[in-house]
Amino acid sequence: MARVGLFTGDEETSAAHRGLDWGSTSLGPVESWPVELRSAVRTVMPSQIPMLLWWGPDLVQIFNHAYMPVLGDKFPAAVGQRGSECWAEVWDELAPLADRALSGCATYSEKLRLLLRRHGYLEETYWTFSYSPVHTDDGGVAGIFVATTDVTAQVLSERRLESLHRLGMVTIAEADTPADVCRAAVEVLANNRPDVPAVKVYLCEQDGHEDLVATSGEIDVPDEIVRQAAETGRTQYLDHAVVAPLQDASAVTGVLVLGLSPLRAFDDLYAGYVDLVAAKVAALLGDAHAYAAERARAEALSELAAAKNRFFQNISHEFRTPLTLLLAPLGALVEDETGERRETLAAAHRAALRLNRLVDDLLDVARAESDRLHARPEPTDLAELTEGCVSMCRATADGAGLALTVSAEPITAAIDQEMWARIVLNLVSNAIKFTDHGAVTVTLRRTDGQVVLAVADTGAGIPPGEQDRVFDRFHQVEGPAGRSRGGTGIGLALVADLSGALGGQVELHSRTGEGSTFTVTIPYVPADVPVPAGERIADLGAAFAGEERRQEPVASRRSRTEDERRILLVEDNADLRAYLVRLLTGQGWTVDASADAETALDRVHTARPDPVLTDVMLPGRDGLALLGDLRGDQELARLPVILLTARAGAESTVDGLRLGADDYVVKPFDPAELIARVRVHLELSRFRETLIARGERQTETLRTAVATRGEIGKAMGILMVTRRWDGDTAFQHLVSLSQRSNTKLHRVAEDVLADFTRGLETTAPGAR
Ligand code: ADP
Repeated sequence: MARVGLFTGDEETSAAHRGLDWGSTSLGPVESWPVELRSAVRTVMPSQIPMLLWWGPDLVQIFNHAYMPVLGDKFPAAVGQRGSECWAEVWDELAPLADRALSGCATYSEKLRLLLRRHGYLEETYWTFSYSPVHTDDGGVAGIFVATTDVTAQVLSERRLESLHRLGMVTIAEADTPADVCRAAVEVLANNRPDVPAVKVYLCEQDGHEDLVATSGEIDVPDEIVRQAAETGRTQYLDHAVVAPLQDASAVTGVLVLGLSPLRAFDDLYAGYVDLVAAKVAALLGDAHAYAAERARAEALSELAAAKNRFFQNISHEFRTPLTLLLAPLGALVEDETGERRETLAAAHRAALRLNRLVDDLLDVARAESDRLHARPEPTDLAELTEGCVSMCRATADGAGLALTVSAEPITAAIDQEMWARIVLNLVSNAIKFTDHGAVTVTLRRTDGQVVLAVADTGAGIPPGEQDRVFDRFHQVEGPAGRSRGGTGIGLALVADLSGALGGQVELHSRTGEGSTFTVTIPYVPADVPVPAGERIADLGAAFAGEERRQEPVASRRSRTEDERRILLVEDNADLRAYLVRLLTGQGWTVDASADAETALDRVHTARPDPVLTDVMLPGRDGLALLGDLRGDQELARLPVILLTARAGAESTVDGLRLGADDYVVKPFDPAELIARVRVHLELSRFRETLIARGERQTETLRTAVATRGEIGKAMGILMVTRRWDGDTAFQHLVSLSQRSNTKLHRVAEDVLADFTRGLETTAPGAR
């Protein structure tokens, strides 16, 4: 009766308790159980909370159905078993707690780690539980209530999250290589031994093998498996390890081997953790590779920049010797000559000076880049030097119709004269070059220990987005006011470098459409007796003046002979234009010269040239635009156009030819070749015009001939018109008709032909 009353449930747990021979345990038969035990059993059994009751000195076990998962395969042996037997593998940890409870004190343990054997292997588990003594009336302790919660899942997920979090905090410093990053990741993972008892990272090398770069703990995975993961990009699962490929967008860059805990089943949660670790390490590695690539690129770029600088320096030096050999004798020869020869030599001298200046600029820019631009200060009358430089640009300003004014306070200062002169010359010549109307104003003053030079113009201005960049080397503002005016884009970079070398800086204030002001501020270093500016400065000025000279279009020059061949020349560089005029008129041709495309177009309409010889780079509309205008005009479409360009290379040739240029001559050119080409085009164009004129005449004559020959003639005429036959085709047709035997058609054709031939003879010009 009583037994039935204690284990009444119909689940297997109650059944097992019912079925046990309790007499064989130290509790004795159920009938003999004390009332405390009975009431304890009645509390435990129906509860939905996992509960275990230990009773008597042997701690004999009674538990409810909710407790079953805690036991695993310890059930059914656990029913009525002694606690120390059931939990033998952890009894060392539990016994002291049980003893405490038996002595009357309740215990509470939180997240206690226990390695239990309940599924055939030793398993890492965590428990939060309490032992509560069951007191008897006499104050003794007869048993222990055990209430327990399995917190394994919670503890594991906290631990894994923590490890992922730390992995997420691994950052890549600029100097880190991919191998460094792998080592850092392995270090973090080594802190989570329970989940990752061992780890290895391999990097895939160029030669196809995998290089072990970081490792922690002991694990043995055959190389074959690692290779397989690398080659297939698929994760390999072994019973003690996971071998995961580390992939970035395009390729497998490494392989991660993670040892698995023998104390945990590889369930979904564990697999999820391993996946996340592999993904995180792959991402880190991807970042490291990206960094490495970026670093390599930066190194390559700076190496390239250094090489470019070395090249500039070497080439500039190489240029200087031949230039010196050119300049000195040219200068002397100019003095000795008169007339046209003097003009030619003077232009050559100016060109050499200009080349020299460009070479100097390049050299200085290269020097500034490698911090080797050193000022050599001398006591200087700064006002005089500045005024001198400005005056060297006066002719250019006058030629361009600009007012050029300078107002300079008297200042004597220690300064590198050449540097200062180049700053002034660059700024003033730029101001003149980029200003179409108005004035260029130069002021020099001293304030608070500083010398301030301002060059203001009323020109096109510089768009806000370009204002910082105009000081960059080789930068030129795109657009009508920029590139088409020539130049190298070095000037302002040099002004900035030179101002820096003098201990100061240059600033720009500009509004598009209103003008620009460049202000150079340098420290004032007082000095007493000034030394006069040297000859170098005069040469410098000449180099600038030679470059920037803008002149009104050269009037046409009539050749000595009466040949009617007329060449329209468009070239903005005054010296080169003058030289070409001399060269071409020397051939007996008439040359019409202009400095820009607009003027050239006007002239084409007033005096039709035979060929047009035009520079590609021109101020305003360039040579290609001029070519487009000519080709777009029916009247002028057949005009031969020869382009003159400074840019060599197949690409620009193709550009010009595609736009319909007849020929292309690259500067510097051989004068004989240029003349030969112009001659060829003159001949070609003469021939073409003759052919066309003859064709027109034939067509006309034929029309008259057929019109007077009745029906068949009319039919011929209609055919001519509808089929758009030109004279030649119609003539051929007639000939073939006249050769047919004896038809009416044949006779008519012969007549038409006869008329046609006669007609041609009477309309032909006297020369034929
Ligand atoms: P370059 O004159 O040889 O092209 P610079 O370095 O002297 O080279 O000038 C760079 C660019 O800045 C020029 O191409 C031009 O577009 C612009 N620039 C320079 N000075 C002026 C100015 N005074 N007004 C308008 N634009 C200017």
